[in-house]
Amino acid sequence: MLSARAAVRTLKEYHPPLGGREGLRLDFNENTVGCSPRVLEALRNLDPERLAKYPEREPVEQAVAEFLGIAPAQVLLTNGVDEGIHLLCETYLESGDEVIVAVPTFSMYEIYAAATGARVITVLAKEDFAFPTAEVLARITGRTRLIAFANPNNPTGRAASREDLLKIAAAAPDAALLVDEAYFDFYGQTVLDAASTAPNLFVARTFSKAYGLAGLRIGVLAGAAEQMKMVRRVSSPYNVNGVALACLPAALADREYIRDYVAEVGHGRERLEKELAELSVRYWPSQANFVLALIGAESGRFVGAMRERGILVRDRSSDPGCQGCVRMTLGSREQTDRLIAALRAVMAELKSAKVSA
Ligand code: PMP
Repeated sequence: MLSARAAVRTLKEYHPPLGGREGLRLDFNENTVGCSPRVLEALRNLDPERLAKYPEREPVEQAVAEFLGIAPAQVLLTNGVDEGIHLLCETYLESGDEVIVAVPTFSMYEIYAAATGARVITVLAKEDFAFPTAEVLARITGRTRLIAFANPNNPTGRAASREDLLKIAAAAPDAALLVDEAYFDFYGQTVLDAASTAPNLFVARTFSKAYGLAGLRIGVLAGAAEQMKMVRRVSSPYNVNGVALACLPAALADREYIRDYVAEVGHGRERLEKELAELSVRYWPSQANFVLALIGAESGRFVGAMRERGILVRDRSSDPGCQGCVRMTLGSREQTDRLIAALRAVMAELKSAKVSA
């Protein structure tokens, strides 16, 4: 009987909802208002030939390289950061290799790494989800081939320092270090410039978050040119679809749109953090477009009550160290008004239910 590889049979399943997300989507850290109108215009003007032809990645890669200030040979456009992670695992991992991830974090590092038969070593974040630099350094061995971090991290919103990330890259020269900067636009700090000099450093970026293009599936993997040559070998030449390629230059050109959206999210984050403090709800100051808050044993009821008010937020209780935590994404001013009003009402409801119990 046909049987999947052992590493796949034992793989943990990741089940993001693939349907039924009606309401205000504050559960998956996407842009909540839609992309730049210039992207919509590019879509409307799409030439049918674009769809008839196999997609041509190279000219857009050049434009992205210019935008990022690095050489085109350092850039690979990917089908979202997800594919960038997958490609790194396919390029560098063999069965029995070791992969280090700092948890809690984005699930796909562990999933793609484990699928190759590599052994995933999870290092728990420190107090207040601080980045566990010393603990990661201590787990590097001669078998470490991949180390993956999200910076800022998801679901905590916490960031590691550039100094610590580069220290780890230098301490593990035989491993690929992936710094996943999916939330870069909200944070503003990067290690991308070091990708030309650190031979084992890779940086991933996405257009799924601030740019509002999660549905188009497009991201970037950047690294040293010599290593990117290897990564390209395992990539499909047509991994990014022609519609996404047609839209990306328009998205990059509208810097004002990104600046305004990021500013709006930043205001929302400040307001939400202030509100949580006033409600005496513990939270972790975030560098991304979401905030993780400790709701406690009632987190499931909290998420359900928010949903009844038309607002989707995500219970992260099953993540390591996140028991009772809920993650809320920020969007526009008006959406933050709705989020805060619902938060107040639901917290009052849970409190009164507790008193009467
Ligand atoms: N990296 C991180 C840290 C994320 O949080 C996410 C989305 N949740 C992704 C990558 C996925 O990005 P993409 O849509 O580009 O595949």
